[in-house]
Amino acid sequence: MNIAVLPASLEAEALSQSHVIQRIGVIGAGQMGNGISHVCALAGLPVVLLDVKADALAKAMASMERNLDRQVSKDLISSQDKDAALARITTSSDYASFGDCDMVIEAATEKEEVKRAIYKVLTPHLKPSCMIASNTSSISITRLGASTDRAEKFIGMHFMNPVPVMKLVEVIRGIATDEPTFQATQALALRLHKTTAVSEDFPAFIVNRILVPMINEAVYALYEGVGTVSGIDTALKLGANHPMGPLELADFIGLDTCLSIMQVLYEGLSDSKYRPCPLLVKYVEAGWLGRKAQRGFYDYTQTPPRPTR
Ligand code: NAD
Repeated sequence: MNIAVLPASLEAEALSQSHVIQRIGVIGAGQMGNGISHVCALAGLPVVLLDVKADALAKAMASMERNLDRQVSKDLISSQDKDAALARITTSSDYASFGDCDMVIEAATEKEEVKRAIYKVLTPHLKPSCMIASNTSSISITRLGASTDRAEKFIGMHFMNPVPVMKLVEVIRGIATDEPTFQATQALALRLHKTTAVSEDFPAFIVNRILVPMINEAVYALYEGVGTVSGIDTALKLGANHPMGPLELADFIGLDTCLSIMQVLYEGLSDSKYRPCPLLVKYVEAGWLGRKAQRGFYDYTQTPPRPTR
């Protein structure tokens, strides 16, 4: 597996490509899509943000404004930077608005059929040189790329949550991804002040191959009664020096996203050690998806959030 942080020589080469991307499209205005739009706009790039749900677009604009305000109050950016960033973002429900984009970053729901359906309607509107990056947490970039009309311009650009805070972007080349697309993606990540780690195209890449089975194991520990929600989270926070407990982190990521990643690992690697915990499945079936649903392993309508088991 090729795991590499970009060396200085490649960084210079990538920077020389930074002019290639002038305009960005983002699909999916959920927690990741709004973070990606935020950092792109703050870096000076005009952004078109699209979602199937109009209320998701309104919510995304409100949460970007709140998050930019937080950066202003911490003196990380000026209020002029905030206003300029917000002015660079337009929202749309029409793929025709992506006609001028040099790169479209897809951050829609983690379901392969959803992503494939999006590419089908998206690609006829794109100029031939436009690249497509998927923010998928786990799905094969080679397979997603092959479902488009431009596998060589298709790449994985896996941002971490919350995007404005987290420093890493995993870059994943599909088997057909060409070198200019790889270089332009590295250049974009640098422009967004992120560090990249290059992962080969295997299920869940690097971060989630390691992180999400740990979360799944924490859910098994809860399921088997090894510990309570707060016992398990306290144990990992104080015993392993993790900034968040695994169940708190699962709620933060979204339990549906965690389950999808485990299913991709289980099916993609055909190994029973990746079996999703039945309790995780049950929470997702109940619609208890974590913070975004106000309920997961914690109840977020209470202050402080109260463990639900
Ligand atoms: P989310 O549920 O917060 O947002 C997904 C958005 O996609 C929703 O607003 C939904 O309306 C929209 N959507 C669904 N179908 C669509 C369609 N056909 N066209 C346009 N928009 C559509 O999910 P999220 O956490 O933002 O995750 C989005 C992607 O980012 C997933 O691929 C996920 O695996 C990946 N990701 C998530 C995290 C995380 O911590 N949550 C981290 C890294 C990557």
